[in-house]
Amino acid sequence: MTADLTAKIFHDEDAAREHFQALRWPHGPVCPHCGTVDNATEMKGRTTRPGLFKCKSKECRKPFSATMGTLYERSHIPLHKWLLATHLMCASKKGISAHQLYRMLGFGSYKTAWFMAHRIRAAMTETNPAPIGGAGKVVEVAAKKATSTPTSARRRRTCSARKRPSCHWSSVAAKSGPSTSRT
Ligand SMILES: [Zn+2]
Repeated sequence: MTADLTAKIFHDEDAAREHFQALRWPHGPVCPHCGTVDNATEMKGRTTRPGLFKCKSKECRKPFSATMGTLYERSHIPLHKWLLATHLMCASKKGISAHQLYRMLGFGSYKTAWFMAHRIRAAMTETNPAPIGGAGKVVEVAAKKATSTPTSARRRRTCSARKRPSCHWSSVAAKSGPSTSRT
């Protein structure tokens, strides 16, 4: 995935909105309430927020925007920042932390960046993940890997073996039951 980080869609709200509308509605505005395609007018009132459309279908006549029904819905964060955050998260080979987003996007709070990262990750989750290797396929897994002890359990064991009272993991092991604690 390549994109110019200085592109207008990542810095200008109008450009971002037009870009998103073109992506989402290649054949004209689609009303999310009744499904009518390309039969809506953009509302241009002085107090109306930009990007709001009104369905012209007789039974509907409801307002809607391109972000309705997406992860960007009902957010006070500008769409261009959402697009930039989404691009950064998708383009980063090893992922990107909320702290990194906070530093790069220039937000007032880490909480905002955390919320965005959480929403973007949730949107990328597969709703119906297919079986590994495809339906009806047999997947071979190395026995050593499948039966190996998880890292956290290994750490716990090491800590309690060393009998370090200040070690966080040893206190966790002591609380978790007699099988892991040593007296
Ligand atoms: Zn409609």
